[in-house]
Amino acid sequence: MSSSAHEHPELGPPELLEVADGVFAYIQPDGSWYINNTGFVVGPTVTSIDACSTERRTRAYRDAIRSVTAAPLTTLINTHHHGDHTFGNSVLEAATIIGHENCRTELINTGLPRDTGIWDPVEWGSVTLAPPTLTFRDGVRLWSGDRPIEVTYVGRPAHTDNDSLVWLPEERVLFCGDLLFNGGTPFLLMGSVQGAIPVLTDVLGAFPAAVIVPGHGAPCDHGLIDTIVGYLRFVLATARAGIDAGLSPLEAARETDLGEYAGWLDAERIVGNLHRAYVDLDPTRGPLDVFAALGDMVTYNGGKPLSCYA
Ligand SMILES: [Zn+2]
Repeated sequence: MSSSAHEHPELGPPELLEVADGVFAYIQPDGSWYINNTGFVVGPTVTSIDACSTERRTRAYRDAIRSVTAAPLTTLINTHHHGDHTFGNSVLEAATIIGHENCRTELINTGLPRDTGIWDPVEWGSVTLAPPTLTFRDGVRLWSGDRPIEVTYVGRPAHTDNDSLVWLPEERVLFCGDLLFNGGTPFLLMGSVQGAIPVLTDVLGAFPAAVIVPGHGAPCDHGLIDTIVGYLRFVLATARAGIDAGLSPLEAARETDLGEYAGWLDAERIVGNLHRAYVDLDPTRGPLDVFAALGDMVTYNGGKPLSCYA
């Protein structure tokens, strides 16, 4: 039942990759809780895709941007509202923060970072809440010089209820936020396990991407989609069996052999994913108590806070 695969707390430095001319991915190892990827596009000004979770990590990211360009960072796009991608928004001091309208609402509802006892304590640093200042419902196209950047809401709950894709059509680079984790366990508690499958296969899968930058883990290609969909189908089958057997999501998780998924980071997410899958399969069980589900993940983790190296 041991969950997180952090035998080695030395995570190594972030990696700055130029995935296309003037388009960078900033990959933070090891991609576990609150350690996300960001990226940026260099033009007359800099457009950033997401911030990091803490002041320290976001300042290091800002330094990485400055290592390749002196252009000012004016525009920030949030792929979704989760704190690892947004708590550092204020540190980047962008004039405009673009996000789905639900991203703004959820971030305001979530509020400033605080230690909840769910995760190891985090040194958040000096951050203030900075929700999107320019929101959209379906999508928006912005321009970095003459380079288009297309932001598209995926249309239904998946990882959250506001997942948005950032697409560079000329370079065929796709920043997909947390719709994909590369090496980590997907997390659907605040979205929909069932809904994420068509989002991955039909929406994300329809982009002719040469490079996909996931929300956590190394850049990848479409091959990862099938792997993640396989996990989502496994979660749904486990939920179906658990419901039929009268088990709680926590009991179903404890009885489940994660098999090929046991080695993924933050495997305790199976508990939150089952909570969501139960409601997906039987909406009369909703609305879901997110904090209680997170508490079940701690229980599954042996009562210890979930490992967090943010
Ligand atoms: Zn997320």
